[in-house]
Amino acid sequence: MKKLIGKVTKLMEILVKSKYAVVLTGPGITAEYDSSYTKNLNNRLMTMLDPEEFTIGRYKDDPESFYDLGAPFFSMIYETAPNEVHLALAELEKQGLIKSVITQNVDGLQKVAGSKKVFEIHGTIKTASCTHCNRKVAIEDVIPENGECELPLHCPDCGEPLKPDVRLHGEPLPEDFYKAKEEARRADLMIIIGSAIDLSPDNELPAACKNIVTINAEPTVYDGKAILSIQEKPVLVLKLLLEVIDKRDINIK
Ligand SMILES: [Zn+2]
Repeated sequence: MKKLIGKVTKLMEILVKSKYAVVLTGPGITAEYDSSYTKNLNNRLMTMLDPEEFTIGRYKDDPESFYDLGAPFFSMIYETAPNEVHLALAELEKQGLIKSVITQNVDGLQKVAGSKKVFEIHGTIKTASCTHCNRKVAIEDVIPENGECELPLHCPDCGEPLKPDVRLHGEPLPEDFYKAKEEARRADLMIIIGSAIDLSPDNELPAACKNIVTINAEPTVYDGKAILSIQEKPVLVLKLLLEVIDKRDINIK
């Protein structure tokens, strides 16, 4: 524990000295204590473990079966809430210590936590769009909490099937990915939290940033290049980080 506090104190010092710090989060920020459901959602949709199942081709050819398969994922919108990591990151942004959060997760929870500048590089399950007329709808507005609705979802304007705003296998990268790349170039510090960052093209994002910190329960591919690497559960590290920042503020005052 003492060793961890030392590392977290160092993290606080690095963060305070940085001019433009950004955070990159992955499925590991929810993995260790949320329901396995969330973990599955983020992992499955993020890594496309079953790319055959959720492809843009399948969506176009057979929206019924696409929705049959994907329907259970929609209910997680009502089942999950931001956790302590999401909330801590929103707080760090509020304090001006980080500028933005780039996330691999599609659960939309970082925005729900109150973060203002979020780049969802794999899209989000929170909204769906019409590929015909571009109308965007909030999932909460079209799927009630009891789940009773007709699938596939149809565009309220033109009646075509709606596509969840998650990047599917075979689709181009979302605009947020390119914006995140710009953000990473601009940053003088990137803190990678809860991601092994071993997948292309996401692993290109930290490459542009010369100061990297990794926080993950498991080793990551960037540990060797990192100026600080904390192999610990993100929730524990973020909790401690807020504590040491609080103490520092009290001491300064
Ligand atoms: Zn439409």
